[in-house]
Amino acid sequence: MSSIPTVYLVGAGPGHPGLLTIRAVECLRLADFVLYDKLVSPILLDHAPASAEKMCVTELAPHHDERVVPIHEAIIAAARAGRRVVRLKGGDPFVFGRGAEEAEVLRQAGVPFEIVPGITAALGAAAYAGISLTHRAHASAVAFVTGHENPHKPESILDWNALARFPGTLVIYMGMSRIERIIASLLAEGKDAQSPAAVVQYATLGMQRTLVAPLAELPRRVRDEGLAAPALIFISPVVALREELAWFERRPLFAKRVLVTRPRHQAGDMVHRLVDLGAVAFILPTVEIREPADWAPVDQAIHSLRQYDWLVFTSANGVSSFLRRVKTLGLDWRALGNIRIAAIGPKTADALRGYHLHPDLVPPHFQSEDLAAALLTRIQVGQRVLLARADRGRDVLRQQLASICQVEQIAVYSQVDAVESDDEVMNALRRGEIEFVTLTSSNIARSLLDRLDATCRRRIESGEIKLVSISPVTSAELQRLGYHVAAEATQATMDGLIEALVKLTCQAGAKVSAVP
Ligand code: SAH
Repeated sequence: MSSIPTVYLVGAGPGHPGLLTIRAVECLRLADFVLYDKLVSPILLDHAPASAEKMCVTELAPHHDERVVPIHEAIIAAARAGRRVVRLKGGDPFVFGRGAEEAEVLRQAGVPFEIVPGITAALGAAAYAGISLTHRAHASAVAFVTGHENPHKPESILDWNALARFPGTLVIYMGMSRIERIIASLLAEGKDAQSPAAVVQYATLGMQRTLVAPLAELPRRVRDEGLAAPALIFISPVVALREELAWFERRPLFAKRVLVTRPRHQAGDMVHRLVDLGAVAFILPTVEIREPADWAPVDQAIHSLRQYDWLVFTSANGVSSFLRRVKTLGLDWRALGNIRIAAIGPKTADALRGYHLHPDLVPPHFQSEDLAAALLTRIQVGQRVLLARADRGRDVLRQQLASICQVEQIAVYSQVDAVESDDEVMNALRRGEIEFVTLTSSNIARSLLDRLDATCRRRIESGEIKLVSISPVTSAELQRLGYHVAAEATQATMDGLIEALVKLTCQAGAKVSAVP
């Protein structure tokens, strides 16, 4: 078995969670132990099994220079214990990533390894800031340079004279703390003071900032505008084409800071949509989904499904919880017989289709009242209806159907207020670093507002934090609690909510182009 690699040195890309290779995802899926760099997006860790150990290198040693040996030791110890190790590194492992050093140490220790390339920061920043690294008319070569070298030290290995004459694009990594000296060295070696130059910070993320200036002015502008690491310096005629080529910064939610409050296992979808639109997404789950307190009524209903005419689902959670229980009881979909199935909205319908079940009814609008109205046109007097739902929520559906048919409700899952609190996200809210809070149900709204302290509440009251609601029911709950709703979705779906958010940011005067 010794020929099978046990350590994967994997490039995690520049930050955007989609800029990961398929090979990197394959390695993460099989990992027992993931050791990741500080700049790696935590969302990428979701590709690894929940049971895998995940450790940030800062846990091994807080200071960069003290980390190297503990990192090597941790990797080798885990590999020798038979664990599959993924060493997840920002960008590409072989571009200023010390990947070669780690690989050499592994070779000496006799530990087999594999190197998985990643999108290096220069490529990510070039694409997302609209700076074409090469161009037939303007740049025929590209050089990646480390700015970590001190150009005034005699042992500096960088030839600033050669770099000043380099016939193409220069990209300088790790150069922010020494930007004055780097640019002074290039100018001293004859580089034109007017050369187009740019700094791109947090490339590929919603926090991305790009500054363009003639080379000689770049250090002062960087200082004035407070740009700092992680950032790259580009020096090239191609920078002048950026106006034409930039696209990411024109996305409708670019740089908007948005809070997602859905349960963690359901937040991913929404986060990806927001990130695609250019937003900086924060996750603070406010409710959690658990098993129901008592399965007995559910089991009884499953065993007697043939006695019902309709099975009604009001959430995707309800669908998966109910259908998983059917399987747990050793049954399959034949247990459903000829029962008709209703879903409250498109997500619930999608969840059913995920189990190869097609809903017989989805109302045109997605609230309990709409579902009740649609069902009332289809149900015959005296028929039996089974509502599979959460253990809390509104009673509208049962009440409205009870007038003409026999309705039975079963709690197929339990929804509880989340206990886990992410202090970093809470602090960001407190400090006013999050502008928009999305609320996807009245329970979520109430649970979140219960947890906020006076500072956050004041920020909501003053309009610094804006609440965006998925439906009139959620808005009513917010108003009942005394809060102003900044925007409400016209369709009670995640897409509807995001559309309302985009409209709200347009009103606030943001630059907007078409939604991709
Ligand atoms: N192996 C990495 C580079 C590590 S060196 C890669 O291939 O990208 C760290 C430097 O990379 C930072 O100082 C910064 O210059 C650059 N960097 C990494 N991520 C970046 C990002 N998202 N935006 C801008 N620069 C980034």
